[in-house]
Amino acid sequence: MKEQTLVLIKPDGLKKSLTGNILTRLSETRLEIVASKIKRVSRELAEKHYCHMKNEPFFEDLIKYLQGELHDRKKVMAMVYWGEDAINKVRAICGKTNPEEAEATTIRGAYGRITTSGVYENVMHASANREEAEREIKLWFSPDEIIVDLFPTAIIKKENIKERVWV
Ligand code: UDP
Ligand code: MG
Repeated sequence: MKEQTLVLIKPDGLKKSLTGNILTRLSETRLEIVASKIKRVSRELAEKHYCHMKNEPFFEDLIKYLQGELHDRKKVMAMVYWGEDAINKVRAICGKTNPEEAEATTIRGAYGRITTSGVYENVMHASANREEAEREIKLWFSPDEIIVDLFPTAIIKKENIKERVWV
């Protein structure tokens, strides 16, 4: 069955100019990219994304890392990959969380490092399972930013909404 997964190229991946390398490696999966954007990461978004790490001693460093404060790159590239067995296929090429344990043939094994303060700078994120993928995709993307219908949606009418438009 087709499924979806969130991929983030983290600020270290952007700083190391790895976007092309990572996308090329991920293209081996033959999955389809159905959403993509460059996004500034607010503290709120970073905390929500890593809510399961809240009690870790390195949580504060992790939030700074995702926000780009350690790499002078205050953005990440976010994408949704979609297709058969998408979650496992992407995780396999991504490699283990700890870049020292990740196989050298994986993206994290090839390009990741551990900082002196102990944070795993592992250049990309990939959802670990279906529940996580759904939560994360809904956190990073609105329905209209994704070109396929992944989850149920509703139309709501908003009044008095200010919006920036081109002049
Ligand atoms: N992380 C870390 N040290 C650890 C575990 C995790 O620095 O001991 C960081 C690492 O950047 C990782 C992120 O926290 O990607 C989220 O951890 P998780 O266990 O969810 O790993 P992932 O799903 O990214 O492989
Ligand atoms: Mg995870």
